[in-house]
Amino acid sequence: MTARQPLETTVTDPDTFRAEVAAWLQANRPPEPDFLLPESFMEVGTDAQFHYLRDWQRKAYHAGYLGMAWPQAYGGGGKPQALQDIATAEMARAKVPFFPNTIGLFWAGPLILAIGTEEQKRRYIPGILSGDDIWCQGFSEPDQGSDLANAQTRAWRDGDDYVINGAKIWTSLGSHAKYMILLARTNPDQKRYAGLSYFLIPMHTPGISTRPIRKLTGEYGFTQTFFDNARVPADCLMGREGEGWSIAMKTLTFERGAAGGQAGGLNRMAVTVDDVVELARRSRRDGRPALEDAFVRDQLARFMIEAQGDRLCGSRAQTPALCSERPDAIPLSNKLRVTEHSRRLFQFAISLQGANASRWVGDAGAVDGGKWQRAYFNAFSATIGGGPSQIQANIVGERVLGLPKD
Ligand SMILES: Cc1cc2nc3c(=O)[nH]c(=O)nc-3n(C[C@H](O)[C@H](O)[C@H](O)COP(=O)(O)OP(=O)(O)OC[C@H]3O[C@@H](n4cnc5c(N)ncnc54)[C@H](O)[C@@H]3O)c2cc1C
Repeated sequence: MTARQPLETTVTDPDTFRAEVAAWLQANRPPEPDFLLPESFMEVGTDAQFHYLRDWQRKAYHAGYLGMAWPQAYGGGGKPQALQDIATAEMARAKVPFFPNTIGLFWAGPLILAIGTEEQKRRYIPGILSGDDIWCQGFSEPDQGSDLANAQTRAWRDGDDYVINGAKIWTSLGSHAKYMILLARTNPDQKRYAGLSYFLIPMHTPGISTRPIRKLTGEYGFTQTFFDNARVPADCLMGREGEGWSIAMKTLTFERGAAGGQAGGLNRMAVTVDDVVELARRSRRDGRPALEDAFVRDQLARFMIEAQGDRLCGSRAQTPALCSERPDAIPLSNKLRVTEHSRRLFQFAISLQGANASRWVGDAGAVDGGKWQRAYFNAFSATIGGGPSQIQANIVGERVLGLPKD
C-alpha cells in the first residue's frame, strides 16, 4: 500500500474547508465512464465497475478526504469528525461516485477499531481505507437470514487452524473481496447464540468459492459463498470463541447506522428529492408540467419534509439534550426511515412517467435512460440487506416504543 498524503490543509474554519473540498472534487472527480455505474456497493457486478470505483476511493483517500477522523497510526487522518462530515456532505452535493469498500469503511473497519486487537487494527485498517483490501460479510445463510442466531456454517478448531464448512448467501462484493467478516458455529452442542464465533478471514483461502447471483435488474453484485474444508489460521478469530453473537450485534449497529465511527464518504449514488422535482418539471400531466399538478406538489412536499426530517434527526441524535429521553429512538429507526423513503421516492418518480413507466434501461423512449426504474428495483436492496424493514419495525416497536413482542 502506498502511504497516504498528509492532509495539506491547516484550515479549521468549516466554510473554508468546505470550499477546499468542493474545489478538489470539481478538479478530481472521475470522468463519466462509458458503462453504467452501479447504484450502490450491492450492485458492483463487473470488473470495470469495480476498478473504476476502487480507483476513485484510492484517489480520495490519498488526497486526505476519507478516514479523516480515524487514527493516524492506522492510516487515518487523525482530524475532527466534523471535517469528515463536511467532506462527505460535499461528495453528496457534487454527486461524485461512491466508494466500493462499504463493508470495510462502514462496519468492519469501525468494528475492528472499536474491539479489535492492536495487531488487527494495524493489519486491516490501512487496506480498508485505501481500498486495497475489499471486505465482504458472511452472515446470511440459505436457510437463515433474519434468524441469524441459527447460523449453521461450521468452524471447528484443529490445532492452530479453524476448518470451515457450510454456505453463506447474498454476499455483497463476494466476487471482489479479499476479506470476509464471518459468523460461524464453533460449538454445535450449544444452541443458537452461545455456539457462535466471529472471524476475519481471507477470501483467497483454498476451499472458499463463490458463485455470482443474478438480480431482478439483470445485474450482479452478490454471491453464494461455499466453504469446503477451508482452513484458516486460529488468529482469524475475533474476540473469544462463543462471543460471535454479541460481536455480530455490534456489527449491525454500525451497518444500520445506529452507531457512529464510519470512515466517511458515500456508499451509494446520491439522488435527492430535488432530482425528482426536476423530473416533475420535465414530465407532463394533463398537458401541463407535472410540477403544476396539486397532487404531485403535495407528494413532493411530503418527500421534502421527510428528507429534511431525516437530516435534522441526524443532527438531533448528536445533541444529547435533544434526545436524552429516548436516546435509541433515532439511531434504531434510521435504516427503516431512510431506506423506505428512497424506495417510495423512486416509485413516485416512475409514476410521473405515464405510459413510459414500463420502459426499461436501453428501451427507446425510456425516461432518463430508464434510470428511475433501475433505481426503484435496486432500492429494495437496502430495505432488505442488513435486516428487512419488517424486522427493523419490530426493533423500533419493541425497543423504542416498548410494545410487547407479540
Ligand atoms: C441486496 C442485498 C445484499 C445483501 N448483502 C448481504 C451481505 O453482504 N451479507 C450477508 O450476510 N447478507 C446479505 N444480505 C442478506 C440480508 O441480510 C437478508 O436477506 C435479510 O437479513 C433477510 O433474510 P432472508 O433473505 O433469509 O429473509 P427471511 O428471513 O426469510 O425473511 C423473509 C420475510 O419474512 C419477514 N420476517 C422474517 N422474520 C420476521 C419476523 N420475526 N417478524 C416480521 N417479519 C419477519 C422478513 O421481513 C422478510 O420480509 C443481502 C440482501 C440483499 C437483498
